[in-house]
Amino acid sequence: MVLDHLPSAHAPLFSAAETARAHAWAPYSHFPVGAALETDDGRIFAGCNVENASYPAGTCAERVALGTAIATGARQFVRLVITSQQQDPTPPCGICRQALVEFAPALEIFAVAPDGRAARWSLAELLPAPFTPASLENV
Ligand SMILES: [Zn+2]
Repeated sequence: MVLDHLPSAHAPLFSAAETARAHAWAPYSHFPVGAALETDDGRIFAGCNVENASYPAGTCAERVALGTAIATGARQFVRLVITSQQQDPTPPCGICRQALVEFAPALEIFAVAPDGRAARWSLAELLPAPFTPASLENV
């Protein structure tokens, strides 16, 4: 769903994502991305994309934010804000959707375009019928 703008309550997430985006290493795609994850207790972890001359070695902003959060012991996430310079709000890629569903199947996701327009999705909406830890039960 496209919104006129990101709800103001999420401004700290937007700010953290934009700060991270400024540090993105994206010399190949020229597509700098920032992401900020909010935990259930209100902490914010940010990430930027980190590309590599060996393209598959690169990592998306969303997974950098997730890894940073996990490394501190955080496990419960409620919200993600993604920023880029694309004209339209950019949703997370498929790999990031999969990485996120491991910890936050009910995640609320916002993407914000440079003109301030935002889009909102639930992770369940973006990744129906996910492969989760439960998928490995009874193996
Ligand atoms: Zn991704």
